[in-house]
Amino acid sequence: MNRLRTYKEHRERLILVHSHSMDNYPEIQASEVCGCFYCLERFSPIEIKEWVNHGDRPIATAVCPKCGIDSIISDASGFKIALGLLRKLQRLFFWEGCHLNANGVRLS
Ligand SMILES: [Zn+2]
Repeated sequence: MNRLRTYKEHRERLILVHSHSMDNYPEIQASEVCGCFYCLERFSPIEIKEWVNHGDRPIATAVCPKCGIDSIISDASGFKIALGLLRKLQRLFFWEGCHLNANGVRLS
C-alpha cells in the first residue's frame, strides 16, 4: 500500500512539474536555466526563439530550440532542472503516454 501511494505521489509531482511547460512565457523570462523533457537538453532562456499559443490561450508557450517540441520547464518554476527530473518527465509523458488537457488535467 505504501509503495502504491508513493508511486501515485511521484506521478502527481511530475504532473505538477509538467504544468510549468505550458503558458510559461513569464516564468521562462525569469529563469536562468531551461530544460526540455523531450530531447533532455538544457539551455539558457535566450536560446528560445519560438513561442506558440495553444488554442486561444493568451500566454505563450516556449518551443525547444533543440528539437522543436513544446516541452520546456525552467528553474523559476521552483524545480531544479536536473537531468534526472527531465528523464522522469520524458518517461511519463512521452513513453507512457500520459495525456493532459489544456488545463493540465490528466486524461489518461
Ligand atoms: Zn527539446
